[in-house]
Amino acid sequence: MTAQYIKPRPQNDADPLLISYLDAIVALTCQREALGLTTSLIDSLCQHVRAERFRLLAISNFNKDDELDGSNFQGVVVRDWLEPLSVPVPIRYDQDLLACARTRDRVSRKLPGMKGRRLILPIIGAGQATAMLVIEGMREVGGEDEVLARLLQIFSNQLYLLSRNELDGLTGLHNRQSFDERIKHLVLNAGHRERRAQPNVTAQQNCLALLDIDYFKMVNDKYGHLYGDEVLVQFARLMSRAFRHQDMMFRYGGEEFAVVLVSMTPEACVPVLESFRRTLEAYEFPQIGCRTVSIGVACIASGESVDTIINRADKAMYHAKLNGRNQVCCYEALVAEGKLAPVTVATGDIELF
Ligand code: GH3
Ligand code: MG
Ligand code: MG
Repeated sequence: MTAQYIKPRPQNDADPLLISYLDAIVALTCQREALGLTTSLIDSLCQHVRAERFRLLAISNFNKDDELDGSNFQGVVVRDWLEPLSVPVPIRYDQDLLACARTRDRVSRKLPGMKGRRLILPIIGAGQATAMLVIEGMREVGGEDEVLARLLQIFSNQLYLLSRNELDGLTGLHNRQSFDERIKHLVLNAGHRERRAQPNVTAQQNCLALLDIDYFKMVNDKYGHLYGDEVLVQFARLMSRAFRHQDMMFRYGGEEFAVVLVSMTPEACVPVLESFRRTLEAYEFPQIGCRTVSIGVACIASGESVDTIINRADKAMYHAKLNGRNQVCCYEALVAEGKLAPVTVATGDIELF
């Protein structure tokens, strides 16, 4: 998943501090995907900064229709990148976070009752603060702020380049490659979380939904490919409005999309997906009119392979297609009702290429 960086042995007369900073830079710049990049940043921080806790807060707009132009921070939320399943919190209650996001300048403060200080550094992408690094309980050694600011500059540049590779050029959603990486990570994590969970605590459940636009070929045939593309762009926008910040949205294939619904059981997902289906059905695409979508959803169960999970959601989606389209089908419910044979191993009949 992440690029390997093997540290060369420093020569005897080399400055160890300089070498360790250079190591941090090399480790950051040799990463090939955003998750690995974040891990590498935190590893470097743990080596160079004495602190109690690091948080990497992604900034986004609560009202997704508004641009994040810095003038109105009322609806801005932050979510901890290092905890992918965490719930976003509004920024307006924390004056220091607000100041850092607004001014794009670092904020340092000694909080009562806390050993050391809290340092907040902005991560700038496309001219605005897209995230903030929060270091809590930071002990003074001297000079770290300047080094950190530069390390974050390299991190921001790398993140920008890698994120562009992980996004679909047409819709701006995450692309298929990113889907494969993230779902693998999520399945592995589900296993770890379940093993760590107390016997009386219910393990967190996530679900995968696959969405396929109905009779999309007809749009291309009747109106042309450019109009078809516009439908895909609008469809992605409607998805971004319908699902929550913590849900992950992907363009899975041509006119197929995927959503990972975080901390939700399949039963809880069905009404959410049903609401999106109804929104889409009622939406008038300019010049084209209404379109519909067929949706299949399945639980991301730990201990299952990624292929099995995708296969289950895919089977539920095809069940929706074969039974009249424009509907939401849940794999677990279909199996319980005896309408679908259980998929226990990946049968390999999903489209891989
Ligand atoms: P169904 O209801 O069974 O899903 O029918 P469909 O016509 O949507 O399904 P089919 O898989 O037969 O066709 C999908 C079409 O999507 C075929 C292809 O031309 C079109 N398509 C795939 N990628 C793109 C794209 O990026 N842009 C446009 N405009 N069309 C695309
Ligand atoms: Mg299709
Ligand atoms: Mg289709």
